[in-house]
Amino acid sequence: MGRSNVGKSSLINALVRQRVARTSAAPGKTRLANVYRVTRGGGAPLYLLDLPGYGYARAPKGARGATSPEAARRASQTEFEAIVRAVFARQPAGLLLVDSRHPGLETDRAAWQWIREASGEAAVVATKIDKLGRGERIRALRAFESVLETSVLPVSAVTGEGLDELWKLIDRLKTSG
Ligand code: GDP
Repeated sequence: MGRSNVGKSSLINALVRQRVARTSAAPGKTRLANVYRVTRGGGAPLYLLDLPGYGYARAPKGARGATSPEAARRASQTEFEAIVRAVFARQPAGLLLVDSRHPGLETDRAAWQWIREASGEAAVVATKIDKLGRGERIRALRAFESVLETSVLPVSAVTGEGLDELWKLIDRLKTSG
């Protein structure tokens, strides 16, 4: 999970190396959770869940039964929470995606606290690392690690950096979760 536009769909695409996840230029397009079933070399299938992005309070247009923007926002929030509860009732491994360029966002901090409590095992992945120069990158990763108090894996869906490490991380989380 991660904020809208953090790069969730792009990362899933890059991970499975085929365009199964939809990417969007406009933020906040993923309305409900998307589930991807990934099979690798005859092993047990892995289910990747792309949860709705947080960080966009704007209500989706025409949310069912909503009589005002505020009601639509609340309905959307309730729906989000129900999906998340159903998913996390199974204690899955959790991955929080954060945008490399924005360390220390309060929403990310809150999400990290939440996902650690709700998941069997959890880790943080910093997306779009290709957008940072070498110095910026070191500073950003340090900032994330100090705010979130955990190690952060840098990845790029564009250059493919960190994807092998991310698969290894997913395998580790799965087996210890
Ligand atoms: P989502 O809302 O979290 O699913 O985000 P998307 O995957 O739709 O990505 C949002 C935007 O960020 C799109 O314009 C992507 O092309 C861009 N993006 C995603 N991942 C990367 C990355 O690793 N590097 C760069 N440079 N851009 C990225």
